[in-house]
Amino acid sequence: MGLEEKLPAGFALTTLEAVVGYMRKASIWPATFGLACCAIEMMAVGTPDYDIARFGMERFSATPRQADLMIVAGRVSQKMAPIVRQVYDQMANPKWVIAMGVCASSGGMFNNYAVVQGVDHIVPVDIYLPGCPPRPEMLLNAIITLHDKIQHAKLGVNRIEAARAAEAAALAATPTSLMAPTHEHHAPLSATPGRSLLA
Ligand code: SF4
Repeated sequence: MGLEEKLPAGFALTTLEAVVGYMRKASIWPATFGLACCAIEMMAVGTPDYDIARFGMERFSATPRQADLMIVAGRVSQKMAPIVRQVYDQMANPKWVIAMGVCASSGGMFNNYAVVQGVDHIVPVDIYLPGCPPRPEMLLNAIITLHDKIQHAKLGVNRIEAARAAEAAALAATPTSLMAPTHEHHAPLSATPGRSLLA
């Protein structure tokens, strides 16, 4: 509960949104957190070639209590999942998450019982970054996209209205189970149950 919760919708609230958004996006500190090969690309953004310091983000915090961005760089094993969640819970609010690479975003090619099939099963994800691995430029692009998202985040009553609109849009959307296959290679998926797809 802060100042924004008390302001009615209008000029004062939108001005506050702009100021708070700018301050938040310009003061992000990532957590020191790398899980697999994608972490090498994440480390590369700290080098002079890519220069994450241009955003004031070169200080990767060794404690989650001084971090507000988690870059999940690499596949998340089932054994690691509770630790990932613990780190997230200990980070300062408000906080954001980038799922870096196909493994963190969806499990990627590791479609098995040992790997979490998307880190969004554990923590809320703000940006999904595709690639295996994504290049450092792609991570910089994801960070710039996150900055834009933070800059335009709603506060107070505006946030409640935005959440209601998003929920209504989600409920009105066509479920993926009702979407028609659009490519030939999807046709076997709609075969009659019980029929061998290899026949
Ligand atoms: S997406 Fe590719 S580079 Fe990244 S962790 Fe998975 S296998 Fe490694």
